[in-house]
Amino acid sequence: MNTVATAIDLRAIRAQFPVLDQEVNGKPLIYFDNAASSQTAKAVVDSLVQFYERDHANIHRGIHTLAERSTKGFEATRERVQQFINAGEADEIVFTKGTTESINLVAHSWATTFLKEGDEILISQLEHHSNIVPWQLAAERTGAVIKVIPINNVGEILQEEYKKLLSDKTKLVAVNYVSNSLGTINPVNEMIRSAHEVGATVLIDAAQASPHIKIDVQEMDCDFLALSSHKMYGPTGVGVLYGKRDLLEEMPPYQGGGEMIKDVSFNGTTYNDIPYKFEAGTPNIGEVIAFKYAMDFIDNIGHDVIKEYEHKLLMYANDKLRKIKGFTPIGTAKNKASVISFLIENVHPYDLGQLLDVRGIAVRTGHHCTQPLMDFLQIDGTVRASFAVYNTEEEIDVFCDALESIVKKFG
Ligand code: PLP
Repeated sequence: MNTVATAIDLRAIRAQFPVLDQEVNGKPLIYFDNAASSQTAKAVVDSLVQFYERDHANIHRGIHTLAERSTKGFEATRERVQQFINAGEADEIVFTKGTTESINLVAHSWATTFLKEGDEILISQLEHHSNIVPWQLAAERTGAVIKVIPINNVGEILQEEYKKLLSDKTKLVAVNYVSNSLGTINPVNEMIRSAHEVGATVLIDAAQASPHIKIDVQEMDCDFLALSSHKMYGPTGVGVLYGKRDLLEEMPPYQGGGEMIKDVSFNGTTYNDIPYKFEAGTPNIGEVIAFKYAMDFIDNIGHDVIKEYEHKLLMYANDKLRKIKGFTPIGTAKNKASVISFLIENVHPYDLGQLLDVRGIAVRTGHHCTQPLMDFLQIDGTVRASFAVYNTEEEIDVFCDALESIVKKFG
C-alpha cells in the first residue's frame, strides 16, 4: 500500500468512484483534472438515480407526497451546507448554478445597488475570469473602478501592496481562497480583517478551496462566499452563495420569476424572504439533493486528513517532477493546494496534454480561465495536474514516467 496513504483507506475511497476503474486509450485512466471538475462519488450518483427514478417532483409548491419528499431533500441540503461551512443560519445559503452564478448574483444585485462612481473594487492578479468579468460589468454599470492587487513571481498576493490599496474608497474586495491555476492558498482571514478595517465588503471565491480546506464562514467573517458542487465530488449545475443575513436582506432580487415572490399583481410585486428571493425558477432539484452526499463524503474522511494526504501527494510529485529534464514549475507559493502548473521545454502545453491523453492521463492545458495571470507570467498557458483525495503515488509515478518518455522523444 502507498506510503502516504496510511491515514486514509485509499482502496475504500477509490471504490466510491467507479469512473476511475476504466481504460482510456488502452491505459488505466489517471484523472489529474480535478481542479476543473472532480469525479462524482457513488453515493451522489445513487442519490441522482433515486431522485429521477422515485422522487422527482417540483419543490415548495406541491402538497403531494413526491413534492414533499423532494422539498424535504432540497432543504436538507441547505442545512447540510450551513453545517459544512458553519454559517449562522440556513437562510444565508442561496443555491445557484455554480461559483460563477454566485459571483454574478452579488455583482448584479449588491454591486449595482450599493456601488457608485469612484468606488473601488479590489481583485487580485490571481483571479479566475469568473471573479474578474462580473466586476468589470458591475464597474461599467456603476462607474466603480477596479484595482488589481499585485502578486510576486511565485504567485503569492503581495500583502503589503494589498494594504496600500485599501482605503475608504474600497467598497469591495473579491479574492479567491485558492488559485485554480497555481494552487496558491491565500491568507484570506487576514485579508478579510484588513478589508473590514476600511469598511469594505468581502467576497471569497472558494471554488478551489472547498474540496481541500475546512471552511468556517463565521470564523473567516467573510460577507459573501461562493463555491461549486462539481469541484467537491458532487453534481454539476449546483453552487452556493453564502451571504450574511443583513446583506442578503437589503439586496434586491437578481432574477425575477417563480419562487422568488410573495405576491404578484400588475400593480406591483412583493418578494419572498431570503434565501428564496434569490432562487427564481425551478432549480436543479435532484442535483442539489445529491450534493448533500458529496459533503458527507468529504466530512466522512475529514478535511484535515484530505489536506494532509493531498499535500503529501503534492510534495511527492514536486520531488519527482523536478528531476525531469526541461521541467519548469509555474507557481511555487509557500502555501499551496494540490495543483501543479508547469511547462516542459520545447513541448507546447497543448501537445503535452494530447500526448498524456494517449497514455490515459487527463490533465488540463491552456490559460485555465486566468488570462490576466498568464499575461503577468508572460506565458500563453501551462499544463496543470491537480490531485484529489482518490489519487495515488503510483499514478504520479506513471505520470512522471510518461513525461520522461515524452521529453526523450520531443523535448
Ligand atoms: N473560481 C475559481 C477559482 C475556479 O477555479 C472556477 C472554476 O474553475 C470558478 C471560479 C468557476 O466555477 P464554476 O465554473 O463552477 O462556476
